[in-house]
Amino acid sequence: MRIRILGSAAAEGFPALFCECKTCRRARSIGGRNLRSRTSVQIDETILIDLPPDILSQVQREGFSLASIAHILITHSHRDHFAPGELHLRREPFAHWEQQPTLHLYGTEPTGEIFRETFREPPIEQGVHFNTIHPFVSFTAGDTFVTPISANHAPHLNPVNYILSRRGRTLLAAFDTGWYSEQAWSALNKWQFDIVVAECTTGLQSDPMNKHMSVQSVKEMRNELVRRDCLKDTARFVTVHFSHDGGFLHKDLEREFAGTGIEAGYDGMVVEVPD
Ligand SMILES: [Zn+2]
Ligand SMILES: [Zn+2]
Ligand SMILES: [Zn+2]
Repeated sequence: MRIRILGSAAAEGFPALFCECKTCRRARSIGGRNLRSRTSVQIDETILIDLPPDILSQVQREGFSLASIAHILITHSHRDHFAPGELHLRREPFAHWEQQPTLHLYGTEPTGEIFRETFREPPIEQGVHFNTIHPFVSFTAGDTFVTPISANHAPHLNPVNYILSRRGRTLLAAFDTGWYSEQAWSALNKWQFDIVVAECTTGLQSDPMNKHMSVQSVKEMRNELVRRDCLKDTARFVTVHFSHDGGFLHKDLEREFAGTGIEAGYDGMVVEVPD
C-alpha cells in the first residue's frame, strides 16, 4: 500500500487564503512544507479519500490526472472535503477519453444530497455513480474492503472516517474527527493498522467543541490504539489537516512529535508499506 498526502491543511488552507496572522505570515515567508492545501489522501493509483477544492493544483503538482481514480471516498460534505463541482470537468468537452470508466463516489446521505444538487441536470452525472454508505456497514470499492466508522464531528452531516484493507495492508483515515465514540473504538478493535492518517487540526489548543484533535489528543489517540493492540510494530502514524490557529509551523510539529511515533504530514508526502 502506497499513500500520498495530496493536502494537509484544514478548511482555510495554511497559510490561510485571507489571513495575515503571525503564523500565516511566517508560513508564507518560509514556504516549503509550511505551504499546505486542503486535506486529501491518495491510496495506490485508484482511490482518493476526499475531493477538496485544491484537487486540480494537487494533481498538477504531483504529475498525474484523476483519470486513473476509480473510487473517491468522501468523509463528509464540509467544503474543504467535498468540491463536487470539479466532477463536471470529467465529461466532454473538458476531458477526452477513449473509454470512460465509471467513477464511484461513496458518502453518507447528507453528502449524497449535495451531490444530487450539484448534478441536478442530467446527463451531467453520466459516468459518476454516487453510492450511499452507512457508518459501520462495510462495503467493497474494487479490490478494497472498506469500513466506515462514525466520526465525532458535525453530527448533522453524519460524517465518517474510513478503514481500508487492501492486499493485506490496512489504513485508518481519521479526518475530520474528535475523540471517537465507544462504538467507533469497538470497530477499530478488530484491526491492526499499517498506516494511520489522523487529523491534528487544533495544534496546541484543545478543541472546546470536541470535533477536532490537538497535538495532545492525537498523542492520546495513538496511545489508545497501541493499548488496544491496533497498531502493527512497523505502523506509520501521520498527521494532517492542520489549522493556522494551531500556531505550529512544520518544524514545531516535528519537535512536538519527536520520539512519539507520530509524523507531521505535509503536502506531497509518500508513505509506503510493501504489499
Ligand atoms: Zn476539514
Ligand atoms: Zn492565519
Ligand atoms: Zn469538517
